[in-house]
Parts: sequence; C-alpha cells; structure tokens
Amino acid sequence: MLNRTLNRWIVLALVGCALPIPTWGREEPLSQRSYRQARRVLERGIAAMGGETFLQAKTLWRKMRGTGFNQGQSLRPDGPYQTRPIEITFALDRIGRRLAEETATVYIGGTPVRNRQLLDLKSSTGWTLNLIARAATPLSPLGITNVLAGLRRYPDLLLQRALERAETLRWLAEDDIEGRKRHAITFTESDGTPVALFFDAETGLLAKCEVFGDHPIFGDTVTEFIFSDYRPVPGATWPFRLIVRNAGEVVQDLEYAEMLVNVPVDESFFLVPPDVAHGPPMGDPSSVEITRLADGIYLIGGSAYNSLAVAFDEYLLVVEAPVSEERSEAVLSRLKELVPDRPVRYLIPTHYHIDHLGGIRRYIAEGATIVTTPGNERFIRTVAATPHTAKPDALARAPREPQIEIFRGRRTFGDGNRTLELYDIGPSPHADEIIIAYLPKEKILFQSDLFNIPPVGEPVASDATRHLARKIAELGLDVAILVPGHVRLGTMEDLRKALERR
Ligand SMILES: [Zn+2]
Repeated sequence: MLNRTLNRWIVLALVGCALPIPTWGREEPLSQRSYRQARRVLERGIAAMGGETFLQAKTLWRKMRGTGFNQGQSLRPDGPYQTRPIEITFALDRIGRRLAEETATVYIGGTPVRNRQLLDLKSSTGWTLNLIARAATPLSPLGITNVLAGLRRYPDLLLQRALERAETLRWLAEDDIEGRKRHAITFTESDGTPVALFFDAETGLLAKCEVFGDHPIFGDTVTEFIFSDYRPVPGATWPFRLIVRNAGEVVQDLEYAEMLVNVPVDESFFLVPPDVAHGPPMGDPSSVEITRLADGIYLIGGSAYNSLAVAFDEYLLVVEAPVSEERSEAVLSRLKELVPDRPVRYLIPTHYHIDHLGGIRRYIAEGATIVTTPGNERFIRTVAATPHTAKPDALARAPREPQIEIFRGRRTFGDGNRTLELYDIGPSPHADEIIIAYLPKEKILFQSDLFNIPPVGEPVASDATRHLARKIAELGLDVAILVPGHVRLGTMEDLRKALERR
C-alpha cells in the first residue's frame, strides 16, 4: 500500500516537472522589477566607489574636521545660529568586529566636549567615554541605535548596509539635484527605518542619503547626508566633503583630514582606558526614576535628562520637558500615579534648546500652561503648530492652541506650604534667555546646561558656569541642593570646586 502511494507520488512529481509553470510567461511583478533596477544602481555605485574589496577593508581610520551649526542650540530661537568647531575620528576593525568614534567640540557657553563611543558589534554592547571627565558609561540600547544611525555619514558603510538588506532594495525615482541627474533607490534598515540613496546618473557615485521620519520639534523631517568632492584614494574614489542637513538646514559641514584603509589602528583607541571612573548605564527616554527631594518635591530622572515636579495644594508644576513625546508620556504617567489628584497646570522649560523642550507638545496636549520668557513665545507656537503626519503625537491627534504665560525677571508660585521662584538670569553665554527655578524653603535650585555634573568623574566649569555662580550670588540664593537638567545632583561645593579647577 505504501509502495503504491509512493509510486503515485513519483509519477505525479514527474508529470509536475514536465508541466510549464504558469507564472513564467507573465511580466515580472513590479516589486521584483523595482528591486532589480535598484540593485543595478547599487552595484554600479559600489563599483564606482572601489568595488566590494574596498567595502570589505580590514581596518578603517578617518578624521574629519569642520563646523557645526547649532540648530535649536543657539543663543536665540530666531537665529542666526552659533557655530562650533567639530573634529570626528573614526576607526573600524572588521576582523575584531568593533568600532570607535570620537567627537571633539565645544558646546555653546564654552563647555568643551570630547566623547568617544565604543561599540562591540559581536555582543552589541558599548561604552561612552567622556575623555574630559575621565568617565565611562555603558551605552543604552538607544545609544547603540544612535551610534549605528551616525554611520550613515560614511558612504562605504551605507552601501554595504544596503547590500546586506538587498531584499528591501527598491527603485525610487530619477531626480534632478542642482542640475545633475540622480538615480534614487531605497532600502529598509533592520529596525524599519527607510533610507533613500541618490546616485549620480553619470558617474554612478553616491551623492546623497536621505532619511525621513518624525522629529519631536521639526515634525515630518528629512535628514540628508550629502557627499561631494570625490577624489582618488588607493583602491577607491572617496568624497572628501560631507554636509549634513536637518529639516532643510545645514547642521554640519565637514572635510576629511585623514582617510586611511587597511592600516594598523592603535588597540587603545577601541578600549576603555584603565584609569577612568565607571558610571551606571544611562536609561532610555522611557526610563523614569523619581527621587523625593523634600515633601512634595520630586526629581524625575532615570535617563540623561532631569525634570523637577512640585506638588502645590491644587496642582502640579513641572520644570523641563526634555527629549521627546515618549519621555513626557512616561513622566506624566508616573506623576499621575504619584500624585493622582492634581493636574499638571504649569510647565516651565528652562530655555528653548530643543533637547530641553522636545517633549513640550505632550504638555500642551495635556492642557498645561507653558511659562516662559518673551523671546521663546513665537518658537513655542511654531512647535505646537508643526505637522507630525508621519508619526502623529497626542497634539497632532487632538490639536489645540498652546496656553503661554510670559514673564520677565521673576515669577513666583506659591500656596500655604511652599513657594517656587523663577528667575530669568539671561543673557547667559549658553542662551540669551534662561530660567532657573528656586525653592527657598527647601534650598533647592534647578538649572540646565549652565553647570553639568557627569554621572562619575569631575564636573567641568564653563563660561556659563561662571555666569550661574555670579547670578546665584547676586540674587542671594541660599542653595543646598543643585539639581541639574542632566544626570547627577550636586552642591554649591561641587560648583565652587569646578570653578577653582578651571
Ligand atoms: Zn541648552
């Protein structure tokens, strides 16, 4: 019986082989045609740059120098943007599957920054080295995603990623950019991010990469990496100039100072130095840890950013809405558990910098009044009205006008138990208008970006720190706890020591 069945299957299988497969005669489906067209463009682009051998170089060593334009991080929201020098050093070890990228710059207000991100691609773990504070903190999952997203500035790594994700390749369009014809294709990253690549139709070289998505402040936003000044290097043709644009504005303009392939890279560049302090891992934006500083006064930490919540008799007041909608959502849901009977009536962003009010739209949707200084009103109204169609947030789903209250100099909130004083201590070297929040009874002062205290290691004073210290003295504030907008609590002693070390 078994044999007869088996025989019948063999006969059927043989007949099946002889029959024509109906789809063979049809026109190739559009997705497949689109893929094949995109693949041809990508393979031509790889060949034009130097071929797969160049893409698989064992080691890479690169140094870029140029200018950063402080979009959303300048003295005033209405420009012109302040600029800063940037130097980026990048190394990749393909055999050891690890990379390191160091950025040296100066934040507005004179804070020097030299951070190196180390990433072990085998274990998907990494570190951020703060080379000024001599401290190392483990990279969070978001930190790792951000390091990988930053690799889009390197065209060879971009082409390699597109090839690795070949099944997602699609033809996009033929386009004219500044008088030159471009062939545009797309691929999708493993995390779902769609990336568009534009190749010069004549040379086949990669001219641009575009990533479209939602930005907490700019809404539907395209980030562009523009490659130009192609010149020959051993085994390849390399773009010596990189321009990064965000929401239509140039944010970085960089040129290569060094571009080396298959050279030995100093081992120490990939390693955490033995003499640095080790800090705790930094939480992602959705991670919220609440510390009660005094009765009804809460520090909202858990990520790289802090907010302060103060419970008055009838309402809650929050200082700072950093990062994003996701962060605000996490903070507000925890506050509703902690103080369920009081609505958030006021939100006070310390200054307009977009990392410190990236979550403001969630508070506007909540109906909170935004308390700010005159120079920020137009910016906040624009942020509230900006379309977020690609990834609608709470305000996009239920639009409303922001309630904004403007003050100059000083504004006080109070009930029978406590008072909170806001001071605009601008113009400061960090921002023309900048607010500090002071609780006189509890001797707590909240400030952002004027004096940063790293998770471990010594804090560094800047011109902005000096400004803060002078204003605290002028206003006669008696401060026991210094709450910064970033990371760790401090004291006036920390501030004094940092100023002495400078
Ligand atoms: Zn700032």
